[in-house]
Amino acid sequence: MNGAMKTAVVGAGIMGRLLAWRLCQAGYAVTIYDNNPLQSTSACSFAAAGMLSPFAEVESSGSGMVELGLAAMPLWQAIWQQLSGDYARGRAGSLLLGHAQDASELERFLGILYARSTNLSVKPGEVQLLDHEGLAELEPTLAGFSGRAICFPREGYVDPVGVMGALQENLLAKKVTWLANAAVTSLTPGRVRLASSQHTYDWVFDCRGLGAKESMPALRGVRGEAVLLQTADFSLARPLRLLHPRYRCYFVPRGNGRYVLGASEIESDDMRPVTVRSLLELLSALYSVFPELAEASVVSTMVHCRPALPDNMPRLQVQQGLMAINGLYRHGYLLAPVLADMALDLMAGLALVPAFQSLVVQMETL
Ligand SMILES: Cc1cc2nc3c(=O)[nH]c(=O)nc-3n(C[C@H](O)[C@H](O)[C@H](O)COP(=O)(O)OP(=O)(O)OC[C@H]3O[C@@H](n4cnc5c(N)ncnc54)[C@H](O)[C@@H]3O)c2cc1C
Repeated sequence: MNGAMKTAVVGAGIMGRLLAWRLCQAGYAVTIYDNNPLQSTSACSFAAAGMLSPFAEVESSGSGMVELGLAAMPLWQAIWQQLSGDYARGRAGSLLLGHAQDASELERFLGILYARSTNLSVKPGEVQLLDHEGLAELEPTLAGFSGRAICFPREGYVDPVGVMGALQENLLAKKVTWLANAAVTSLTPGRVRLASSQHTYDWVFDCRGLGAKESMPALRGVRGEAVLLQTADFSLARPLRLLHPRYRCYFVPRGNGRYVLGASEIESDDMRPVTVRSLLELLSALYSVFPELAEASVVSTMVHCRPALPDNMPRLQVQQGLMAINGLYRHGYLLAPVLADMALDLMAGLALVPAFQSLVVQMETL
């Protein structure tokens, strides 16, 4: 029985919240520590676009990401059934567009996708090349687009702000102890230290994102800037990406006429507000596909730095009583459920799927 096992989750981003939720479901007692106030939206996880993209993100991911992402998709479907709350979600797939003059970009993309998913071999139907009629039928708003498109029918999206809120509500309803404004100063196996107190647990989970840089020196920030737009008389059923040779961008429905346009990708942990250049690049790329959005309103801009490791893959750094889960980079939403399940399996001493074992780093207990 694990009913008496005490666990602490440090960091209430998507990784920490989803892990805490899974720990509660599995019957563990959970305490959450986060250095922000309870209602804060300043974590990186609030800035995300929420795309669940095992395929379309392959260009910027490390090897093995397709397999990991595909393992996460059914877990997200189960979460949607179990996690109550009013948050937008979609599983109608996603689209990758290339202007007619950028056909070579789509070819290059497909080459990378097939090269990076050899063990898994992308199944028939999971990557669909669309002609003009096929695209217009699937997404009538794109009837005027003259380029080429690929559809990934298994991809989806969630509204990150809604999911973060739903997880918080569910955790508080389950009587999880949530210590807000609690800046943790150090983590050791079974122990959480704050400036003036320390607390012991059976297991401690370090989900501090970039806040863990001191104990994970290889972590780096990758700045991402995005824009929230509002528009009427315009409808997209699924996220789309543009494979522009200079300005990659994506456009994701958020419900109620709102769309997230993102995101820059800059090797920096600079958190200052969005720059003119990034705004120009993102908006120009969008305008090249949808000139009709010229009158859309810019509601707000978002900036955050993604926590990334050198190979852009996540890691679970494990020793008895302490597990650090970090480096979620561009894929925190996609991967959090599969990483949470791996954490529970490792904690219970269960073997992981061989393909995922390379993500685990066993640390020596001092
Ligand atoms: C613009 C942008 C768009 C993105 N789009 C997507 C997308 O479409 N799909 C996708 O899957 N991913 C996306 N991502 C990536 C995703 O947002 C990240 O991978 C994810 O948010 C990382 O989550 P995390 O829980 O590891 O870290 P965080 O969200 O950073 O959470 C860490 C938490 O720990 C707390 N903390 C830190 N230090 C301490 C301390 N000492 N004591 C207590 N608490 C502490 C922090 O305050 C924070 O609340 C995007 C990211 C950006 C920036």
